[in-house]
Amino acid sequence: MIQKIPLPVQNIIVTLGKAHFEAFVVGGCVRDLILERMPKDWDVTTNATPEQVLELFPESFYENEFGTVGVKVPRFLATTSPDYENDIIEVTTYRTEANYEDLRRPSAVHFTLSLKEDLARRDFTINAIAYGPAADGKWQLVDPFDGSADVTKKIIRTVGDPAERFNEDALRLMRAIRFFAELRDPQETKLTHSWHIEEATFAAIQKLAENLAAISQERVRDELAKIILSDSPMEGIQMLHDGGLLRFILPELEVGIGVSQNLHHIYTVWEHNLRALATCPSKKLEVRLAALLHDVGKPQTKRGEGYNATFYNHDHVGARIAEKMLTRLRFPKALVKKATLLVDNHLFYYNVDEVTEASVRRLIKRVGLENMDDLMAVRIGDRLGSGVPKAKPYKLRHLEYMIEKVSRDPVSVKMLAIKGTDLIEELKIPAGPKIGAILDVLLAEVIEDPNLNTKEVLLKRADTLKASPIETLRTHAEEKIEEKRAEDDQQIKKRHWVE
Ligand code: ATP
Ligand code: MG
Repeated sequence: MIQKIPLPVQNIIVTLGKAHFEAFVVGGCVRDLILERMPKDWDVTTNATPEQVLELFPESFYENEFGTVGVKVPRFLATTSPDYENDIIEVTTYRTEANYEDLRRPSAVHFTLSLKEDLARRDFTINAIAYGPAADGKWQLVDPFDGSADVTKKIIRTVGDPAERFNEDALRLMRAIRFFAELRDPQETKLTHSWHIEEATFAAIQKLAENLAAISQERVRDELAKIILSDSPMEGIQMLHDGGLLRFILPELEVGIGVSQNLHHIYTVWEHNLRALATCPSKKLEVRLAALLHDVGKPQTKRGEGYNATFYNHDHVGARIAEKMLTRLRFPKALVKKATLLVDNHLFYYNVDEVTEASVRRLIKRVGLENMDDLMAVRIGDRLGSGVPKAKPYKLRHLEYMIEKVSRDPVSVKMLAIKGTDLIEELKIPAGPKIGAILDVLLAEVIEDPNLNTKEVLLKRADTLKASPIETLRTHAEEKIEEKRAEDDQQIKKRHWVE
């Protein structure tokens, strides 16, 4: 196993050893080594104090008040951007944690000279294994809680009494499920030998679920993001629900449980949202979140029952709900905006024989050319996740072709053949907001017919517009776009009336 440890990490351990300190790699990286997976990062634990570590490594610095020193080493991690020369290896002094007062982080840490005590403070047995040189210099596992046996048996189990450990830090409730989602083999079935959360550990999660409410949204968000980005995101969300945690994270999603749909669907709203997440081909967090939340507006907008139930406007209602949820979880503004945009537009109408180039340009104007691939990924999840074999991938291929075809057509004012300055110089229109209003009208017309996009034609048309009051121009531009949008929406309703 030692050969699998990158040299910069081995060097730190050897250097500490030469100075007569104990040092081991520990935590997630040892678990991943045993599993023959590539560790995301490498952590070192030692009985040297932070000051002693700082002295041994000239290129090191104090990382935090918990006894962690960052040691700079030449870049070796595959995930580090080539822009950086260095990676940082975290070297942490053996420590115990004390005085958990509020279901959160410890209020004090104490250094200890015992590796076993350090391992005992860790959350799960699979994360409480160390590997490094023993007294005789030979590398071996230090595994007082039988973590490697649990790795082999694929069991997630707390170190010690589950209730006690979850009461110390309620984020561990979510971490158990995060490791389940990350470690699980997405191909596995119930019949194959698979990762699971040990019974007593899971029972404690269910019992103590409401403690999660004491954890900051930011910490919850980070664990949720890892579950969503794992290879088994659907199973992870389902497990959050089964464990009673989801109602403290995404309660709006649970409203879809048991809400049946109509003749286009065999799954309930809840099942369908989860399956859309599972089948969404994107690796991007915001796109996967949009897939998961794409139909979150359905329970509220459902009218009627059985085969003929309708969900008019669920896309727009859902977008507002998704925005609220993601904002509450403190996701960055840009991510919230993007996911909301995708939910808002996931229902775009597309039928090969009926769709005009102008309507594809309107879609691109609304969504942005740079977001079309992501919108497609949500739509693919939506389609595959419906469980009804009306798969018509050629439709999406045709849309891709149409997007490509119109992608150089003007869909924004910047792409018009004239600029504001042309209006000022050639038509003597005074600088001011009216310029923008005229350009908006021109754009609305050019989207309908890109042949109008020449300097000559647009100047002539602008000349006829310049006498109109600014309000008239604005209404005109809006009406033009809105009237067409209403036509598109009408199409959606007609053809997808029940979706
Ligand atoms: P990853 O592959 O995501 O890096 P990891 O197991 O390394 O997984 P980290 O969150 O990086 O997880 O934490 C490193 C180690 O620190 C864990 O393996 C565990 O031993 C310990 N640890 C981290 N967070 C906690 C916690 N909340 N409670 C107890 N131990 C923890
Ligand atoms: Mg780690």
